[in-house]
Amino acid sequence: MINEQKLIDILNNLERYLLQQEDLFGNIIYKEPEKEDHTWETVSSLDEFNLKISSCQKCSLGATRKNFVFGVGNPKAEIMLIGEAPGADEDEQGEPFVGRAGQLLNNILKAVSLERSEVYICNILKCRPPNNRDPLVSEMEQCTPYLEKQIDLIKPKFIICLGRIAAQWLLRTNDGLNKLRQQVFQYKGASLIVTYHPAALLRNESWKRPTWEDMKLFKKLYDEYKNNSK
Ligand code: URA
Repeated sequence: MINEQKLIDILNNLERYLLQQEDLFGNIIYKEPEKEDHTWETVSSLDEFNLKISSCQKCSLGATRKNFVFGVGNPKAEIMLIGEAPGADEDEQGEPFVGRAGQLLNNILKAVSLERSEVYICNILKCRPPNNRDPLVSEMEQCTPYLEKQIDLIKPKFIICLGRIAAQWLLRTNDGLNKLRQQVFQYKGASLIVTYHPAALLRNESWKRPTWEDMKLFKKLYDEYKNNSK
């Protein structure tokens, strides 16, 4: 039996191999890449940025998505939450974390006295992978400049990474979630902490307690920051 991670590794290797073949033997099976639009790089507001990139076709997910899921929340948020990729509900509505995992995320935020509208919520990928499969490395590579620009515009003081995939990607590590949580990393001027993905909590209730521990760590850091900036 081949497990899911193994299958993803195989797909990533296959993709790398095909790209190498293309480099060596020319563009036989791939469409000529369209000329990339870089005008988004200089925008100064999130709305303008969203308008510029929401018809993105840099990867194949552009062809299968219903909606581009840019992100939602306070454009001046001190706290940014970053998930993995839109699911079916998010694809349908064009907003991150609106399904069952999103309801749970709202409750997690409430537990630390935060409203969804105070923070900024987005994902590593802006488009839904078919059947909610894990994002491919190439998709995350293509989409990360968008996330980086969002972070540059928002300038959050805290980033909460939701789940292993977002955390490993942003921190460029293969360490497991258990090793990454309960630590404070620095990322693009923000203190970054890692916790379980809300969808994982729906599958396994026993992860709710450690998530609460992670949110308590976040709250302690956030309260300290607020007291120091008075
Ligand atoms: N899971 C995610 O990682 N992001 C969403 O927006 C929804 C579910």
